[in-house]
Formats: sequence, structure tokens, C-alpha cells
Amino acid sequence: MAIVTCQNVTIGYDGHAVAEKLSFTVSDGDYLCIVGENGSGKSTLIKTLLRLQKPLDGKIEFGGGLGQNEIGYLPQQTEVQKDFPATVWEIVLSGCQSMCGIRPFYSRSEKDTAKKNIERMGISDLVKRCYRELSGGQQQRVLLARALCAANKLLLLDEPVSGLDPKAAADMYSLIKELNAEGITVIMISHDIAEAVKYATHILHLGKNQFFGTKEEYVNNGTGKYFITENGGEDCA
Ligand code: ADP
Repeated sequence: MAIVTCQNVTIGYDGHAVAEKLSFTVSDGDYLCIVGENGSGKSTLIKTLLRLQKPLDGKIEFGGGLGQNEIGYLPQQTEVQKDFPATVWEIVLSGCQSMCGIRPFYSRSEKDTAKKNIERMGISDLVKRCYRELSGGQQQRVLLARALCAANKLLLLDEPVSGLDPKAAADMYSLIKELNAEGITVIMISHDIAEAVKYATHILHLGKNQFFGTKEEYVNNGTGKYFITENGGEDCA
């Protein structure tokens, strides 16, 4: 069942297009990796899917009963965010904020949701720790737990392994794959095409050689072959 359908979508800012005529479908349980050169519009597309940004043209439809508040988002981390002065518990719980409405406190069930996702991410021993004292890999697990509190159906991840060492990056990739195997649909921006191809079911390549299809189609397609073999899996940003 399609949960996101984009038809001839043009994205950009102030009437200026950064990517044009994007057409793709994400079905329940898919793992879509968005790859492409720096500046090709990957983050802009994620912002557009989150409705933080209006498409300049085309149509985006959300199906499969996906409500406005059922999309979890893991943003790209900035240096300032890495220094955020809050505990792990406070950060994860803040993922439940959209469920509070005008209520100025968290309910028992929201606290239970936060606890469940903390356990799911294997960070129960860190709950009282200050976020800024954690390693990059631990911080990403905290942000993933937060995103899972906001939504359990669709996760949008903007370069979740950026800045992590190879071991922490591999752990993060397997964690995301496990969530996908549990039924969560994943849309992830990745800089590392070789890793993207390993885990994804579908690839959307933005830039000069725009492509959308299954990962098998991508590896056999000229664009996929070129980027995977010629660049050793790293995109040529
Ligand atoms: P990517 O994620 O593929 O690196 P982005 O989506 O971040 O690319 O950026 C695509 C283009 O849009 C870039 O040229 C960037 O400078 C521009 N851009 C990004 N954010 C804004 C903004 N808030 N206002 C205007 N232009 C922007």
C-alpha cells in the first residue's frame, strides 16, 4: 500500500527550483534511500515531505491512513544541537510533544512510550545522563528513540550516520534495518551509496542523473553502476 506518492514534484525556495519533476512512491515497509551530490535537494525534499516547505509544483499524497503526526524525523545534527543541555530522558520524552496538544504536562502513557523506545534503542542506562556528554553514536540512538516517540509508522532520517566512526555507523545502520524489519517504513538520506544499496529496498538519486527504482534496478542502471563502482560508493559531493 502506497503511503507517500510524489507526482512531478518540484521542490525549492522562493520560486527557485532545486529539484524538478520528482516522481516516486513509497509503500508500507519500504526502505528508501535518497542519494545524490551535495546541494541536489535531498534535505529540501525531506523538509517538503514533513510539510515544513511547500512544493513549487506537483502533487504529494499521503495514504495508508498515515496521519499528520505519524511521521518521525531525525534531523541532521548541527554542532549546536550536539551541545544541547538536557538529559536523555527529557530529549526522548520531547518526542511525545505533538500528542500533548494544549496539555502542559506529559501523560502516563506518553512517559511509557518514551520508556519503551529508550529500552528499544538500548539506552536505558543513559536516561539520567546529559545529552551533550554522550558519544556521537549514543546521541543518535537518543534522537532515534525521540523520533520513534513521535511516530511508529514512517521515519524520515537525514544522514543519521554523519560524523560517526565506522563501528557506530554500522551499529546505526543495523538498528535502522531492524526497525524496518519490524514494519516501520524508512526514508533515509545517505552520503554513502555503497551502504545505502546494502540496506535499502529502493533508491532515489537526485541531481543530474535523476533515478528512482528498486535497488536491483539501480545497481544495474548506468547511474547506479557509475556511482557505486567509480566512486567506491561515496557520492562525488
Ligand atoms: P542536499 O541536502 O542535497 O545537500 P539541500 O536540500 O540542503 O541539498 O540544498 C539544495 C539547495 O537549496 C542548495 O543550493 C542550498 O543552498 C539551497 N537551500 C537550502 N536551504 C535553503 C533555504 N532555507 N533557503 C534558500 N535556499 C536554500
